[in-house]
Amino acid sequence: MAVKHIPTDVVHQEKKGGTTGCGIDTTRNNDQWIDSQQKVTCDKNGCKD
Ligand SMILES: [Zn+2]
Repeated sequence: MAVKHIPTDVVHQEKKGGTTGCGIDTTRNNDQWIDSQQKVTCDKNGCKD
């Protein structure tokens, strides 16, 4: 599953426990994140395969 950060329009890999692959806490600004079926566009370690 991927999650999209609405303000930046970047799609991140989602890990269990409310963080992105690159370590952003998605529970902190929960209203800025939506589940996405799109391809991951974040190029940071952990999100990028
Ligand atoms: Zn990321």
